[in-house]
Amino acid sequence: MRQSLLIVDDEPSVLIAMQTALEPLATIITTQDPKQAISLALEHKPSLVLLDIDMPQMNGFEVCEALNRVPELTDLSVIFVTSYSDADTESKGLALGAVDFIAKPLNLNVCQLRVSNHLNLKSQMEQVLTAHQALHAEKEQLKVTLNSIGDAVIATDDSGYITYLNPIAEQMTDWSSSEAKGRFIDEVMVLTDANNTHEVLNPIHVALKEVRRVAMALNVNLTSKSGRIYRVEDSAAPIRDNTGNVFGAIIVFHDISESVAMATRMMHLTHHDQLTGLPNRILLHDRIYQAISGEYQPDYVACLLMIDVDNFKYLNETYGHSDGDRYLMELSDLLERLMPAGATLARVGGDEFVALMSGVISTSKIDMLVNQILEAANKIVTINGNQHKLSTSVGVSLFPKDANNTEALMRHADAAMYRAKALGKNQFCYFSEELQDKLSARMHIEKLLAQSIENNQLVVQFQPKFSLFNQQMTGVESLVRLADKDGSLVPPDQFIPLAEEVGLIKQLGEQVLMHSCQTAKQWLESGMPLQVSVNIAAQQFNDPNLCDIVANILEKTDLPSRYLELEITESALMEDYKTARDMLINLGKMGVSVAIDDFGTGYSSLSYLKFFPLDVLKIDRSFVNDATHDEQAFNIISAIVSLSKSLKLKLVAEGIETEQHLKMLQSLEVELGQGYLFSRPVDEASIVDLYKKH
Ligand code: C2E
Ligand code: CA
Ligand code: CA
Repeated sequence: MRQSLLIVDDEPSVLIAMQTALEPLATIITTQDPKQAISLALEHKPSLVLLDIDMPQMNGFEVCEALNRVPELTDLSVIFVTSYSDADTESKGLALGAVDFIAKPLNLNVCQLRVSNHLNLKSQMEQVLTAHQALHAEKEQLKVTLNSIGDAVIATDDSGYITYLNPIAEQMTDWSSSEAKGRFIDEVMVLTDANNTHEVLNPIHVALKEVRRVAMALNVNLTSKSGRIYRVEDSAAPIRDNTGNVFGAIIVFHDISESVAMATRMMHLTHHDQLTGLPNRILLHDRIYQAISGEYQPDYVACLLMIDVDNFKYLNETYGHSDGDRYLMELSDLLERLMPAGATLARVGGDEFVALMSGVISTSKIDMLVNQILEAANKIVTINGNQHKLSTSVGVSLFPKDANNTEALMRHADAAMYRAKALGKNQFCYFSEELQDKLSARMHIEKLLAQSIENNQLVVQFQPKFSLFNQQMTGVESLVRLADKDGSLVPPDQFIPLAEEVGLIKQLGEQVLMHSCQTAKQWLESGMPLQVSVNIAAQQFNDPNLCDIVANILEKTDLPSRYLELEITESALMEDYKTARDMLINLGKMGVSVAIDDFGTGYSSLSYLKFFPLDVLKIDRSFVNDATHDEQAFNIISAIVSLSKSLKLKLVAEGIETEQHLKMLQSLEVELGQGYLFSRPVDEASIVDLYKKH
């Protein structure tokens, strides 16, 4: 910006001369009236005022004094223009703050040079001043920023001595900025490893040494002067001047105690069972993984104990879930007390616990622990005044002997536990090769079963039933099989219980029912009126939809209902006898006949038979087999015969293998029978052949 210059002189000729000489240097404002000087100076804010001393109304000194008194004009520089050259005048002028004198008569050249020099000086001073102001403003802004920042900030010089702390850093370290200034960073910021309390190198040292940003360190605790501990996250960076030289470093950190606490709580929640506070399946898997991966000694074992409460369901259902929960808590306490140091006890399911130990452990030590567990579980536990004496079954699997991964180790311990249950509960069982074989066989069959059902590939065979008087074929029993990959047929004993366990039995039953009715319908159409008997599992019989399902299949296959018979067991009837009775009444209304399968093996009380509307009793093959040499079995059959007569039920004998069996049954007047003597279960085509032969 162009500077301006105020000239005050009462002689017009001087004003004109100076104006012309100085115009190239600045904007010139002139006045002859010294009284106007102040208002003009205020208006134009000139850099320089040239003042004549000798003026009539007001001399130059007086004008200068007046100018000095105006606060807005303190920056103004005054040069006196005068013909006086005595020392007194000069010193008076200088005392009033004048920066120079120009002598009259004017040498315009000298005048020009002097003014020019002063203007330059003035402009340089202004530049310095504005630079200084800008710097000051910037510094203030920086300070405000650092003070209001949410993180703690500490700055040091290039040797790590503190130059600045913001208020948050003051709060967290308990050092005031002034106290801390000049101290070594390590004295003010005491950092330790949160896991092992070892000292941690302040990242500021790394930032200074390696001249780079140092990212956040994890797991660091900051201890304040008064001993408070914060979990902090920090990062440091060197600070450089504009030539790139590092002159210090800055560290920024904040308190993450709360989020760490939160994360820890979350971690605990996701890794522990709420009821007992024990590790859950997730954490257990982690521990197993740690126990079986990495280097281990030759005799090292990891031992997994699967602990399952026997008959827990009974306690839960009889006394309620809250008692059940209380029991589990008591048991978890009892078990936890038995755990050796370093062992993990986890709860992995309702009433399932797992203990994991690892190291060089002898079998006798494992046996001892398992026995202690069984014993502890036999303790009488009192809940709400009720005494409970329960037991557990324990399965043991070992790494590396039985399995080399977490999944298999768990599965094998589980299999061993089921074995212990099957052997009578309240005992333990080690996983073995034999169990392994059973397990693989089971897995194979489980897969085959699921596939066969999915693809509707179940094989149904039929075993014919005959009149024992005239050898006429009266019907067939449907018997399901699984076709294995090698073409062999898997017998139902090997997969029906499995289907019940895994929840596939209803689907299986429906497919067999459908296939049986379709086949019976075809036979009927080709002149073979054969009744088909279909085995119905307990789960199917207790399904309220059974009647609808049967009705639907009869309608679809267009088979008259009298050609269908359902075989159910006594135990299925007794599960819920009122509902069972309604079911039987409905089936009777539909015209479907119902047989009791394996009769005589289940309930010894025969009085219930009157209660149920039934059509047929099937004498179990064990009686038929024994009756020829065992009098008691013979007597049972003869009792069943009289019972059936009085209740007007048809009788079918199963398992007729010999002529002797046949004669014995004929002598007792049993009317129908099936067995290997007549035919094994065969395919549809063979039934047609057999029918034609008889
Ligand atoms: P079950 O209902 O008692 O069926 C009769 C079983 O005795 C059949 O065995 C049959 O092959 C066998 N058997 C027939 N005659 C003789 C004989 O003279 N001597 C001997 N020792 N056995 C004879 P299978 O086919 O192995 O069926 C076994 C069991 O599987 C059946 O016993 C039945 O409870 C069940 N089952 C078969 N098919 C089905 C089905 O589709 N659904 C349901 N839920 N269970 C079925
Ligand atoms: Ca049967
Ligand atoms: Ca049977």
